[in-house]
Amino acid sequence: MKKVEKEKKTRNRLEGLGHCKPCTVLSGCYFVKSRLPKKKAEGDGLLHPNCDCKLTGITKPNGKITASCPIEKFTRYIFSDEEKYLVNGKRELFESLGLGKEDSEYLKMEFDVQAKQKYLNGDYEIGKLDEHGQRISITITVNSATRKNIKLITGWMVYPLGKIVCTTPLGG
Ligand SMILES: [Zn+2]
Repeated sequence: MKKVEKEKKTRNRLEGLGHCKPCTVLSGCYFVKSRLPKKKAEGDGLLHPNCDCKLTGITKPNGKITASCPIEKFTRYIFSDEEKYLVNGKRELFESLGLGKEDSEYLKMEFDVQAKQKYLNGDYEIGKLDEHGQRISITITVNSATRKNIKLITGWMVYPLGKIVCTTPLGG
């Protein structure tokens, strides 16, 4: 069984025992102290009343962080020719900034490198937390042939052991 599947099963079992899913999904995830998941409800627990979660100090996972933005996020989403994606206007926006499908490799590389460093250093904003995980947003700076220092707000999902995966290459 795949590790992810195994984890899901464990979490389903934990839910049956009364643990809340948005909490179990945070197990083993790295955050800097000044940018922790937001409290879901007021109360004496860490994230909500009767929360069993504990904050554990871990050493900064230098070298262990992996940030990955699947190239398909650009080739098959942002720069897709499909009507259902064109309507979101993201392709138009990217193209107005001088970025096209041929820049997918470059964008992917910049996203991976910059997100890794920013996540490690706590240079992110805490987003929505639900049963699928904690989302964070990271500002990525890219250049195109026509413009310098284009700032993109990007969305990422946090996984255990220092792993983040890009879910939204252009948020907001
Ligand atoms: Zn909890």
